[in-house]
Amino acid sequence: MRMTGYYFFHPRKEVITQLYPETPPQLPERFKGEVVMLHDGNNEHACTGCTACELACPNGTIKIITKFETGADGKKKKALDTFVYHLELCTMCNLCIVACPTDAIKMAQTFEHSVFDRNKLIRKLNRPGSKIRAGIE
Ligand code: SF4
Ligand code: SF4
Repeated sequence: MRMTGYYFFHPRKEVITQLYPETPPQLPERFKGEVVMLHDGNNEHACTGCTACELACPNGTIKIITKFETGADGKKKKALDTFVYHLELCTMCNLCIVACPTDAIKMAQTFEHSVFDRNKLIRKLNRPGSKIRAGIE
């Protein structure tokens, strides 16, 4: 009651309530809301399908499905087919981001993930028609 009275008489001090959803919340820089894959304007990414992120994840949130592609030299090479991300399992620990040798993925600050069907939380992170950027090994 004492604190209620204090804030009643000092309404402009130490205001921590944010008017969400009327105004977008101010998230701290360290806030992590979702793993995403970076794509450039040419719909290219930096994922080699190496599975380091999958191995680093402590709870099986990531499943990397690979395929073989024929390179310009005629040799077959392993490549990413599908990056499956189970958002419903993710603890936002950041270990997969740290493990990635090519900075292909990052944590986004999205946070409105409520859905009626939990299958919608299973994401394919590589966009349709995307491919690996030239020069990424
Ligand atoms: S942030 Fe952590 S729990 Fe989520 S996918 Fe990456 S390693 Fe797994
Ligand atoms: S996102 Fe990074 S660590 Fe994961 S498979 Fe792709 S290149 Fe490897």
